[in-house]
Amino acid sequence: MKEIMKIDGLSTVFFTDEGKVRAVDDISFRVREGETVCIVGESGCGKSVTAMSIMGLVEEPGGKVSGGSIDFLGEDLLRLDKNSLRAIRGHEIAMIFQEPMSSLNPVIKIGEQIMEPLIVHQKMKKKAARQRAVELISQVGISRAEQIADSYPHELSGGMLQRIMIAIAISCSPKLLIADEPTTALDVTIQAQILDMLREFKESSGMSMMLITHDLGVVAEMADYVIVMYSGKIVEEGEVVQLFQNPKHPYTRGLLKSKPVMGQRQDELYSIPGQVPNPLELASSCYFHDRCEHCMPVCRTRHPGLKEVGGGQKAACWLYEEAEVHV
Ligand code: SF4
Ligand code: MG
Repeated sequence: MKEIMKIDGLSTVFFTDEGKVRAVDDISFRVREGETVCIVGESGCGKSVTAMSIMGLVEEPGGKVSGGSIDFLGEDLLRLDKNSLRAIRGHEIAMIFQEPMSSLNPVIKIGEQIMEPLIVHQKMKKKAARQRAVELISQVGISRAEQIADSYPHELSGGMLQRIMIAIAISCSPKLLIADEPTTALDVTIQAQILDMLREFKESSGMSMMLITHDLGVVAEMADYVIVMYSGKIVEEGEVVQLFQNPKHPYTRGLLKSKPVMGQRQDELYSIPGQVPNPLELASSCYFHDRCEHCMPVCRTRHPGLKEVGGGQKAACWLYEEAEVHV
């Protein structure tokens, strides 16, 4: 399968009063045509910042992409000027967020907000754009589409608003859809409907998807390929079946253990002991060592690199290194 996005050595920093935070630290991965790549990890692991970096949403003085490249269909997004990036953003790459309200304008009618990218990117005339907007509203499973087009965001439920966001995202037939926790704020039934819809669109359009989530249930349902992040680094990656059947990194194993099982009470859920390290104090060590039951002396002094551990699966853990490095 053709690779549509190649990220190499991406690093993104934020400047805080206490110092520089490496939110994303030298990560590399690929997204292939028609594939869904899930990025999973706890909050603060750098998964949203990765998406923001791709979309050009990390801006100085708050932060900046400090290194690497993001090749999208042969062009490095980090080296494009603002206008060229804007042309790609929302057109060839679309994004949906956890909170649809944060991306919609509260004082503009839904229909007009769907029409805008059609007019801007696809140069549609107003009348045709309106017709297309109404079609898109029905396509995302909302009835009375004409009436909804003339409503304001506050008149719709959270689930409906997220459908509207999807309508906007798919309106220009993007090649890549980035979805950051798209169903986290919704109740379980609506969540399932939205995920089904995303999968159907992906399959019928052939677009690729980069789905960011902390929910392994979502990963199991949606992913072809999974990237596990911890403290700004990729700690494990592989095909979804490999990762679920044979997780290698102790952090991935912990995440899988903490996944709810049908019939089990919530208060019996396993949770990984300890906390994510302070991003300002990352030392030359495995960032997971304080929480890892397999921690060895080398883990406290040297950072493990991401290495192939068989069948294309990769992990960053000293457990899979040759014995001689354990000194
Ligand atoms: Fe645990 Fe060491 Fe592997 Fe880190 S490198 S996950 S501390 S065994
Ligand atoms: Mg996030």
